[in-house]
Amino acid sequence: MARGLGKFIHDCAHSAGVSTWVARNMKVMRIIMFHGVGDDECPEVFFIQQLKYLATHFDVVPLHVMLDRLDTGKGCSGREVVLTFDDGLRNNYTIVYPLLRELGLPATFFVCPGLIESGRWLWNHEARQRLIRMSECERKELSAPFGRHMNTTEQIIAWMKGTPWAVRIGIEEQIRNMTPRYQPTSEERNRFDIMTWEDLTALSPELITIGAHTTSHAILGSLDDDVLSEEIEGCRCRLEAWLQRPVDLFCYPNGIHTPKVVQNVRAAYRAGVTTEPGVVLAGDDPFVLKRITVAPELSYFSWRMHRPAA
Ligand SMILES: [Zn+2]
Repeated sequence: MARGLGKFIHDCAHSAGVSTWVARNMKVMRIIMFHGVGDDECPEVFFIQQLKYLATHFDVVPLHVMLDRLDTGKGCSGREVVLTFDDGLRNNYTIVYPLLRELGLPATFFVCPGLIESGRWLWNHEARQRLIRMSECERKELSAPFGRHMNTTEQIIAWMKGTPWAVRIGIEEQIRNMTPRYQPTSEERNRFDIMTWEDLTALSPELITIGAHTTSHAILGSLDDDVLSEEIEGCRCRLEAWLQRPVDLFCYPNGIHTPKVVQNVRAAYRAGVTTEPGVVLAGDDPFVLKRITVAPELSYFSWRMHRPAA
C-alpha cells in the first residue's frame, strides 16, 4: 500500500478511535520495542505522546508481571503492555528514565556490559558514522579483498552483520584505521553514547528492570561455542556482579535467534525477546517473544497495536 494512502487510513482510524478500540478488544499482551529517544527517528515530544497514549489506553506492566500471567493465565486483562528499550543508550538514562518516573511507568532496559565497560558505541553505530565520512573509493577498498564491490555505507553495514565475528572485528579495526581523525559531534554523542555503570545503578529497580542484550551486542548466529557462551551466560554474570541482583531477561541483538542460540538462552534466563513483529498470546514460547516497533507517527503506532507487521 502506498504510504500516502496508508497514512490516510491510519490517520482516520486513529482519530475515529477505531485503532485503539480494535487493539483494546483483541485481548492480547504486547511488548513495545524502543531504542534511542531524542533524535529524528524518535523525537522527545513524540516519545511523550506515545507513552501517554499507552498509559491512557493500556495497562503498562513490568515484563515479569506479563511473564507470570503468560505462565499461569491468571489475572490477565488482555491489555497488558510492556515497555522495552534496547542497547543501553545513555539517552535512556537522561531522557527516558525521568519521563518514566514522572508517569510511573515500568520498563526493561536491555544492556551490553562489555560496551558499558569499554565506553564504546555499538559496533554498527560507530562503523556507520565513520563510514559516512569516508569517500566512495575508500569504502570500495574495504570490501574489495573479500571479492565485494560495495560503496554505500548501508551496503557495508549489512554485509558486516553477516560476516563471522572475527572477520567483522577486523573490518571494524580497519575502518578505525581509515578514519583516524574522527571525532563524534555532540549530536552523535547524544544519540550513541552508552550508559555508565553509575547511570545503571542509579535507576530505581522498582521501576526499571535491567535485562541482558549480550556482552558486546554480538550477532549470535555466527559464533563459536565459547564466544556464544560468553555473550549469553557471561553477560548475565557480569550484570549480576555489578547490579548485585538477578538478571533473567534476554534480548537477541538484531533479533537473530537460531535454535542453538535459543537453547543457550533457555539455559540461562527466564525469557527472551526478539525483533519479530507480533503480539503475545497465552501459550507462546517465552524465549521467542514478539514485539511491536514504535512508528514515526502516533496514528501509525496505534495501527501497529492491532497490525504489528504493518
Ligand atoms: Zn540492540
